Amino acid sequence: MVSNKRINGFTAVKGLKMKSGVTETYEVIVIGAGHAGCEAALAAARLNCNVILFTVSIDSIALMPCNPNIGGTSKGHLVREIDALGGEMGRNIDKTFIQSKMLNRSKGPAVHSLRAQADKKRYSEEMRRVLEKEKRITIRQGEATELIVDNRKCKGIKTLTGAVYYAPVCILCTGTYLRAKCFTGEVVTESGPNGLAAANDLSESLEKQGIELFRFKTGTPARFDGSTVDYSKMEVQKGDEEIVPFSFTNRREDVQREQADCWLTYTNEDTHKIIRGNIERSPLYSGNIKGTGPRYCPSIEDKVVRFADKERHQVFIEPEGETTNEVYVAGMSSSLPEDVQFEMYRTVPGLEKAKLVRNAYAIEYDCINAAELKTTLEVKNMEGLFCAGQINGSSGYEEAAAQGLIAGINGAMKIHGREQITIDRSQGYIGVLIDDLVTKGTKEPYRMMTSRSEYRLLLRQDNADLRLTQIGYKVGLISKERCQALLKKEKQIEEEIKRVKSVNVGASSEVQALLEKNGSAKLQSGAALADLIRRPELNYDVLKEIDKNRTDLPYEVCEQVNINIKYEGYISRQEKQIRQFKRLEKRKIPEGIDYEEVKSLRIEAVQKLKEIRPSSVGQAARISGVSPADITVLLIYLEQAGGESKNEASV
Ligand SMILES: Cc1cc2nc3c(=O)[nH]c(=O)nc-3n(C[C@H](O)[C@H](O)[C@H](O)COP(=O)(O)OP(=O)(O)OC[C@H]3O[C@@H](n4cnc5c(N)ncnc54)[C@H](O)[C@@H]3O)c2cc1C
Repeated sequence: MVSNKRINGFTAVKGLKMKSGVTETYEVIVIGAGHAGCEAALAAARLNCNVILFTVSIDSIALMPCNPNIGGTSKGHLVREIDALGGEMGRNIDKTFIQSKMLNRSKGPAVHSLRAQADKKRYSEEMRRVLEKEKRITIRQGEATELIVDNRKCKGIKTLTGAVYYAPVCILCTGTYLRAKCFTGEVVTESGPNGLAAANDLSESLEKQGIELFRFKTGTPARFDGSTVDYSKMEVQKGDEEIVPFSFTNRREDVQREQADCWLTYTNEDTHKIIRGNIERSPLYSGNIKGTGPRYCPSIEDKVVRFADKERHQVFIEPEGETTNEVYVAGMSSSLPEDVQFEMYRTVPGLEKAKLVRNAYAIEYDCINAAELKTTLEVKNMEGLFCAGQINGSSGYEEAAAQGLIAGINGAMKIHGREQITIDRSQGYIGVLIDDLVTKGTKEPYRMMTSRSEYRLLLRQDNADLRLTQIGYKVGLISKERCQALLKKEKQIEEEIKRVKSVNVGASSEVQALLEKNGSAKLQSGAALADLIRRPELNYDVLKEIDKNRTDLPYEVCEQVNINIKYEGYISRQEKQIRQFKRLEKRKIPEGIDYEEVKSLRIEAVQKLKEIRPSSVGQAARISGVSPADITVLLIYLEQAGGESKNEASV
């Protein structure tokens, strides 16, 4: 195999310590201006910290190196939760989307998910503009190469040019850049995404500090010149007529606009034959790629091999922006050689004569073992060092931004000596994401899915503000006005549910006519309005004409009234489960506990508990290898020891 290896990263001459004499001090250092780093820097600055934000390339702030969209199933929930807590991603995509769609409308509200196609360039420019407006943020192009550590406390970083930056809090959001390698067939480049410089030195410093690193991989499809694509061979995919904003700070009428189209086409047997015929040239199958890839985001090679019986795979053509012809070929990420790519893509109906603009490629990079983190995202064995985003083993813009926000909030809380926050599994997908990562760790890129939450009927994208905005207000990211608007909404929902439940309607001809119009069974006698709302074919909205005393309420309030009445039984069952969950979650475990001391704990449980060092009995119960019997033993021990730790609030 001919390895065309090219280095696209700056590495100081090994061992030569650069000295630039630049020394600066801040309160918070954020390494990385990707989706995690932007949220972390904004949160810390808005919580009155002086922040310096590093990136290897200032032109790649909030870069979307892969799919040109924000949201989608479960990821839309994360964006809404970020917004509810006072983060930026929701507002940024509401300003820069080119198509928007509420997915899974035909299914239950738990899986309704907003997804918006972004103008990638404008998304990045807008996020940069927001960062530049924050006076407490200093943006710096530079590569962090080394942590400065004193007695297990992170004190700052050194850069490639030898500058030294001190701060009591350092947040690593290095994404897919650490020792990054890109693969297109036999061609391997030591490079970050889109040809940007890789960050080749920091990994060594992390390992020196005893932080365990994994090698992960992800991939992206080729890009084509959209003006050369034959869309007559594809099915148009339109955005929603009425657009729903991601941010709770935006009204529906604020985000209505012209939308771009996406297109649906398919691979076919010719595509699959070319892939099978060249599979040994795929670095994935030749073993050249060592990193572990995302199970739920497979490359086209993986799909053809793993689902050999499938005659075709969906391919979506998505515009990358309004000021470019470039289009993204969703569903066909690959690392096959360039010549195979030219052949493979041109078998797809509509792409026969299309011009390929960028090759597909796979990228391998270092990430940490997230089980070494607390639920606050601080490194257990390194005070002041936080990690967020892809570096924690997750995959996706939304997953990264959610972690960045929490790390930014907790970094600031640490600076101000205030209690750090943990969002638990019953409060949000952010809680599910972080708890899964730090309690179970992950051996492959972790992407969020609604099936990961045991409380998904309550963790809907439509009620993220009701679940999290008061927490955002408590930490200081949400304004008083916004919190008061939320409390008013809550009150309106409560009062309207109470009113609706007190309304009875008679079997009048008007009522019978409305029921018939909606294909619903006629009434024999009077009925409670709430019972009618619970009928699958009816809802709060269609019953307004027979609900005489109804007042005009905002759409969002009506939506909550409808869902809470319609799914009341399921919701109260989940609320009961959450009360049980919270009891164990609130049972804190003292940081200094010696598990060897806890008699009758099984050896495996002692090992796992010593490794993960859970902060609560609830978290301990989720560690694989810790049985319910072990939890009983632990509870008795804590009862007898009467110990509880004070320094972390579950909000
Ligand atoms: C090729 C490719 C394909 C992908 N495919 C998918 C996919 O299919 N599905 C999916 O969900 N996600 C995918 N992703 C992942 C997605 O891009 C990331 O999840 C997301 O960008 C992670 O955000 P982040 O903030 O953690 O890191 P990034 O967005 O990667 O940002 C990292 C930032 O850190 C900076 N940086 C790194 N190291 C240093 C250093 N030492 N000093 C200074 N600055 C540094 C970089 O300049 C950059 O600003 C893909 C990514 C790539 C590159």
